[in-house]
Amino acid sequence: MNVRTRFAPSPTGYLHVGGARTALFNWLFARKYGGEFVLRIEDTDEARNTDEARQAIFEGMQWLGLDWDEGPEEGGNFGPYYQSQRREIYDTWFAKLVATGHVYEDAGAWRFRFERKPVTMHDLVCGEVTIDYRDESNTPDMVIKRSDGSYVFHFVNVVDDLEMQITHVIRGEDHLMNTPKHLQLIEAFGGKAPQYAHIPLILNPDGSKMSKRDAGAAVGDYPRQGFLSESVVNFIALLGWNSKTEQEIFNLTELTQIFSLENINRSPGRFDLEKCKWVNQQHLHEVALDDFATAARPFVEAANLPISDNYLAAIAAVKDKVRLFSEVPNAVNFLLKDNFDFDEQALEKVRGNSASKNLLSSLQSAFASITAWSAEAAKAALNEAALVAGAKPGQWMFPLRVALTGRAHGPDLGEVMILLGRDRCVTRISQLAEKI
Ligand code: GLU
Repeated sequence: MNVRTRFAPSPTGYLHVGGARTALFNWLFARKYGGEFVLRIEDTDEARNTDEARQAIFEGMQWLGLDWDEGPEEGGNFGPYYQSQRREIYDTWFAKLVATGHVYEDAGAWRFRFERKPVTMHDLVCGEVTIDYRDESNTPDMVIKRSDGSYVFHFVNVVDDLEMQITHVIRGEDHLMNTPKHLQLIEAFGGKAPQYAHIPLILNPDGSKMSKRDAGAAVGDYPRQGFLSESVVNFIALLGWNSKTEQEIFNLTELTQIFSLENINRSPGRFDLEKCKWVNQQHLHEVALDDFATAARPFVEAANLPISDNYLAAIAAVKDKVRLFSEVPNAVNFLLKDNFDFDEQALEKVRGNSASKNLLSSLQSAFASITAWSAEAAKAALNEAALVAGAKPGQWMFPLRVALTGRAHGPDLGEVMILLGRDRCVTRISQLAEKI
């Protein structure tokens, strides 16, 4: 069977993480089986659709790398791919229901006559779900065409899935209870139902249902915050699917190979932005230094830091420490400029040690007398000064780090000293000695 899946968003807001996950699962499934992935824009609700929302969907999917074989801009044999342009197709299919007596008029609207019987669906994730249509009070015949002539979601959604020969519908669990209605329509059309897979909800870490306003909900925010698209894809894949192995870090190619509907979880996915940042850090480790430096540059520039000759070396020193590109400016600022802010807590700790001032001034003169500056020479000078002062070299490390970097943690001090050079180290040490 030639697999055909689709992503059918309604362009009423931005591209939400939940929508992106639906798109991803459909894309992965189609790619895995060498089938087609269709993008269909469900824009029948004119009042709520916007161009920006359409644009956000396209841009979000492109950024994630989810290319569509058929749909807006791509075309295809089953277009148009905007529901707002498919009116004639719907009229034709509606006429079939009129001709076969499956619909009747009610106060200007048209209702679809349900078959009064139990309808069972076999969902690939949720298993068997039955709705009993014999109880008419619970399942009144549904309106499929409103009195203003517009068609209702259930009708156009089903017509398009049949017209577009969709074989697998992977969508959010919020549509699970709609599916028996869709099966009734498909039966009335004498069509072949696609297979359905309803994927679990996404919850916030506190267990509440994720809403559009929650941080991290909009796919469009991720590039701005310095995430790699492959990390976001990886993270989104883990919201409701797991590899059944210990492995959590995957690229798109790996995901395509191992993705399966059987491994979709029954229980809701937990959205945790901290986890997403961790996933991003794992992917950043794999990025080559040059590419990393290029991608980080707009963030560094936006923070008004000078891009000096040692930019690449400075980036190399902090590359493994950051989780996001947006964290680079703060991680690297003391390497790119001299007047950086000190971390107050670190400063207090230095002040709290009564020996700090002496340690720093001994260090200052020890460093100033080094002629061939290297990490080894600096270390030797530090040991020597410690010996004279009767202190442990380790004691000097903290004030030295604060003097050079302004904070308690950061890259290897040897690396920092080489990057800064002797004179800047000496100046910074003396500046801190004065400050405390
Ligand atoms: N437009 C519907 C939605 O965004 C599509 C549902 C479906 O995938 O069938 O929820």
